[in-house]
Amino acid sequence: MSANTELDLHSALAWPFFEPRHRELAAGIEAWCREKLKHEDHKDVDATCRHLVRELGAAGWLKYGVGGVAYGGHGDTIDTRAVCLLRETLAKHSGLADFALAMQGLGSGAISLGGTHEQKTRYLPRVANGTALAAFALSEPEAGSDVAAMALSAREDGDAYVLDGDKTWISNGGIADFYVVFARTGEAPGARGISAFIVDADTPGLEIAERIDVIAPHPLARLHFAGARVPRSQMLGVPGEGFKLAMRTLDIFRTSVAAASLGFARHAMAEGISRAASRKMFGQTLGDFQLTQAKLAQMALTIDSSALLVYRAAWLRDQGESVTREAAMAKWHASEGAQQVIDAAVQLHGGMGVQSGTAVEMLYREIRALRIYEGATEVQQLIIGRDLLKAHAAATAGDNAK
Ligand SMILES: Cc1cc2nc3c(=O)[nH]c(=O)nc-3n(C[C@H](O)[C@H](O)[C@H](O)COP(=O)(O)OP(=O)(O)OC[C@H]3O[C@@H](n4cnc5c(N)ncnc54)[C@H](O)[C@@H]3O)c2cc1C
Repeated sequence: MSANTELDLHSALAWPFFEPRHRELAAGIEAWCREKLKHEDHKDVDATCRHLVRELGAAGWLKYGVGGVAYGGHGDTIDTRAVCLLRETLAKHSGLADFALAMQGLGSGAISLGGTHEQKTRYLPRVANGTALAAFALSEPEAGSDVAAMALSAREDGDAYVLDGDKTWISNGGIADFYVVFARTGEAPGARGISAFIVDADTPGLEIAERIDVIAPHPLARLHFAGARVPRSQMLGVPGEGFKLAMRTLDIFRTSVAAASLGFARHAMAEGISRAASRKMFGQTLGDFQLTQAKLAQMALTIDSSALLVYRAAWLRDQGESVTREAAMAKWHASEGAQQVIDAAVQLHGGMGVQSGTAVEMLYREIRALRIYEGATEVQQLIIGRDLLKAHAAATAGDNAK
């Protein structure tokens, strides 16, 4: 990869969102990626993912996505800025390495946020050191964007809950050691009748019904639950509060999806600049044309505005603020923006841009799903719009009470 990406991230690190430890972390993960991700083999994604999780754990990078020093985490809470810097850098080098790190955090986030001491002790240290793989099972065939429509049921039976139904599009499905599963317990209709459970992969009644292939391959599956008995002690938080726990988890990891988008975009930008500076045509180079300069300028603007939104959301969350609106803005802008930046880089490469195996072709496939998962762009727009109206209603009520 060219030096351009280094310069950009380096200058962003001077922003007031960061502390000296973040600059050290960014330098450390960059060096690690250069050393460890050189010979990555994507032929067997399951084996590569397992290997990457072990390596990331051994190097200490997974600790930042786990809350609680006593449970193997780096700090008392999940360090959002650190997770974002890690994801941005990993994504710049390898989509699969970014995926491996992201899933450990997303898959265990609800345990960090809402687990008991026993649950945290049992799962989090292994997530942090890379010896147990985590997964987050929220989506269903008939409940994707409309999460509250989920049907997978959890029926109380003595000291256990019995789970029946399907979850689909589950990342790490098939290789995870445990799944955080959201299920309908029925305390109230819709979102208020959902609870969360930690389900070990070897639980009788849980099976991998189907492996799913996608354009940027990573482990993905449909899970089928047929009378899977899960001890009551595996419930996360209180009955009926699972939806809130899922949303709190997404508030953290949505910002990190935006950070990964930024990493992909930075890589595409570097490839685009190199190509523009070297490709000879019409007696000069591609970069000499003003049309090309305008394209590069647009790419740079999109990247900087995404970075500002990502690290504003991450910084705010690390200050303990609610970041629902800011995380949604970051995810929307950075994922859609990265798609545009990558598309422009493909265009700058001409035919090479669509040749299988070139960096920009791989980035083109890699970015697409990020505009869909953890809330599609349209869902982020709704979150922002509703939040604005809610803030207006609260302000109006305040004025009326005066
Ligand atoms: C690669 C990949 C990995 C994933 N990993 C996981 C995982 O680990 N765990 C998990 O639980 N899920 C995971 N998912 C599922 C993902 O979260 C869902 O695909 C996503 O929420 C969209 O749901 P859906 O696919 O059912 O699409 P639908 O809900 O059917 O939505 C289709 C489209 O409708 C549009 N749309 C949605 N809402 C509105 C609206 N209100 N107004 C107008 N348009 C709208 C959007 O453009 C959306 O893309 C993953 C998905 C992918 C592709």
